[in-house]
Amino acid sequence: MTFESETRRRRTFAIISHPDAGKTTLTEKLLLFSGAIQIAGSVKARKASRHATSDWMEIEKQRGISVASSVMQMLYRDHVINLLDTPGHKDFSEDTYRVLTAVDSALMVIDAANGVEAQTRRLIEVCRQRDTPIITFVNKMDREVREPLDILDEVERELGMPCVPMTWPVGQGKSFRGIMNLRTQAMTVFESGKERLSDDFETIPLSDRDTLTKRFGADFESAMDSMELATGASPTWDHAAFLAGKQTPVFFGSGVNNFGVMEVLDALVDLAPPPQSRTSTTLVNRQPVVKEIQPADKDFAGVVFKVQANMDANHRDRIAFVRMASGKYTPGMKLKVQRTAKELRPTSVVTFMSQRREAVEEAYAGDIVGFTTHGGVQLGDTITDGANLQFTGLPFFAPELFMTVILKNPLRTKQLQQGLAQLGEEGAIQVFRPEVGGPMLLGAVGQLQFEVVQHRLKAEYDADVRLEGCQYTGARWITADTPAELREFVNAYPARMALDAANTLAYLCTSPYDVRLAQERFPKIHFHPLREHA
Ligand code: GDP
Repeated sequence: MTFESETRRRRTFAIISHPDAGKTTLTEKLLLFSGAIQIAGSVKARKASRHATSDWMEIEKQRGISVASSVMQMLYRDHVINLLDTPGHKDFSEDTYRVLTAVDSALMVIDAANGVEAQTRRLIEVCRQRDTPIITFVNKMDREVREPLDILDEVERELGMPCVPMTWPVGQGKSFRGIMNLRTQAMTVFESGKERLSDDFETIPLSDRDTLTKRFGADFESAMDSMELATGASPTWDHAAFLAGKQTPVFFGSGVNNFGVMEVLDALVDLAPPPQSRTSTTLVNRQPVVKEIQPADKDFAGVVFKVQANMDANHRDRIAFVRMASGKYTPGMKLKVQRTAKELRPTSVVTFMSQRREAVEEAYAGDIVGFTTHGGVQLGDTITDGANLQFTGLPFFAPELFMTVILKNPLRTKQLQQGLAQLGEEGAIQVFRPEVGGPMLLGAVGQLQFEVVQHRLKAEYDADVRLEGCQYTGARWITADTPAELREFVNAYPARMALDAANTLAYLCTSPYDVRLAQERFPKIHFHPLREHA
């Protein structure tokens, strides 16, 4: 296979949903259909132990929520599909936003009874900002749910883009009969509760109207009516509009029954985009110049969008997840971390085949490669095989919650510092070091992040800490056009200055008016609520 066709056959997407909409179940069924996992270990069994294929960390099992995002690769119809899971809990939204920067499309799972829920709404916003193409899967049609027209209407409103139904349900709940595939013009007949594979399902062509009416009676007739209404009201399918994030194809099904899932896999292959170009900056005569990196560029380039520490409790290692933007990875390749200009010296390099991690033989743009290291790599780092460039766009949000860290046993200062440095680099929490000294500050976007960090400091670094509230309610990263202006500002508010894990200067606020007042006093200072790694 040529280099170009290797990149063209890749699909990298994130699966997003509100908790309990059925993301974990659908993920497993996608893996099942692609043959990446065997039937053994049903979702129920996994749920009982609160442990799913995509959950790795001890803490996830304890809490039964997906804290960490994970990566799974599968092969389907000769395409390499990289699926990135996202934590459903809102307190880990930052992690999710970063995952969304690493994909070319998103699969949105909606509970047909609940419609578009709060957490999905926030994720949609991020996708929309980036014009990420979205495929919609309406799940749980085997339950008593809302009318498909009603759901379509809501998705359309929430997404702010037209929906184009690709499949249409016949009945629902106890009288769920199946789905009509509008592309193949055939109805797939629903059978519940079985661990079925794709070719096990019976299909009847829609042209065979007599058979369909005879077997499914009024359910079929009313499905045809509502389908005609829906397609009449929707625009025709426009692939370019979908790729531009301006139209979403909608599929109906039941994840837990393996039903309607293959249609989604086919859509990923047929509709979802292959790896897209990614924006970077490069220095030309010491000036930053924007450069689009194309997937077919031969030089290796990738960005660290996630760092996860101590996945194997026996080794104090960290995995840096790199989304490849271009080139080809082969074992033993010499790579450089652009921020430090140091060689990346991984102890192992892996891909993520469902539950297993495997040594990488080769990888291309779109693939996620995990580099295990003992440090030296941070969230947002650009890795190349030599070229001088830095990818942009990995977001860090100004925290809105702050806590002071108090060590219970002062003899464990070193462990605490190591733990905070690593958890900060991982992006599990933001760590601020006040310029005037004193205890470290933790900044979070969601309350649960504090609990996770406290738990991990103890479990992984043997540093038992107490977290205490403090007066801060926000932070802004600050920059100025000249060093003198910055110095003047820092001198005016010495007690409010802190450095984050990337040594970027931030101003800590105690009220919403704070920034406004400081801005009035120092009009030339720039206050940033979002730091993009650059
Ligand atoms: P997640 O939180 O989005 O990952 O959701 P899960 O995949 O864990 O599913 C939440 C619950 O919904 C579980 O009890 C699943 O068994 C159930 N579920 C998932 N898909 C379906 C479906 O198609 N029909 C029904 N009736 N239940 C489902």
